[in-house]
Amino acid sequence: MSNNNFTIDYLRDFLGKARSNGYRFLTLKDYVAEGCPTDKVFVLRLDLDIKPQTIKPFLVVSREMNIPMTVFIRVAGPYNIFWYPTYACLKQINAAKSEIGFHTAMVEWAKINNEDTESVFAHELAALRSLFPVAGIAPHRDINYVQNSLPWINENWSHLKQKYNIEYHAYEDRILKNTLYVNEGLSPHLGWRQMTPHEAIATGKPIYMLLHPHWWFQDNPFEAD
Ligand SMILES: [Zn+2]
Repeated sequence: MSNNNFTIDYLRDFLGKARSNGYRFLTLKDYVAEGCPTDKVFVLRLDLDIKPQTIKPFLVVSREMNIPMTVFIRVAGPYNIFWYPTYACLKQINAAKSEIGFHTAMVEWAKINNEDTESVFAHELAALRSLFPVAGIAPHRDINYVQNSLPWINENWSHLKQKYNIEYHAYEDRILKNTLYVNEGLSPHLGWRQMTPHEAIATGKPIYMLLHPHWWFQDNPFEAD
């Protein structure tokens, strides 16, 4: 059985299918700003967990097909947003019509280092905002995480939203209840969690798709190693 579906050609294929089926593409910020519409909307979200250079083929597809992406970037993750080749990639995201969001595991980081969670959050966010405008946040969890950051975000949401001028977080009910959430994940090998992109597109419902660029490839899964 082949598990070889996570190629850039396949990405092009289903995005093209969505477009020919009448889907329009929005960033997450614009989706929320439009009041979370329920027509044929497609939000393509990418979480850049590791290997930031793996965003490059996505940038090519985004430009070629004129599809905006929403890319969540880590500050306290295993890459450095100020390292110039990484910054160069991130700058291209920002230069296209795509959106940069803030991807953080601040609760895990704070517990491990015995720091205050909100301070960690504020420092990371300020660092990212020193380079790019940021409207939205999404918590990150490692495969072997201990502390999930989402409950803390939910508990402190009205405070965080107001104090840090944040427009949305990626797991708000208003987003999830109005969309089909389509994502890949390990179980134990890489696959689609609920449904494939083609199955989702066939429903005609709004699609909120989360992909992880480090799992996607042009020629082989190890090309960016
Ligand atoms: Zn993540």
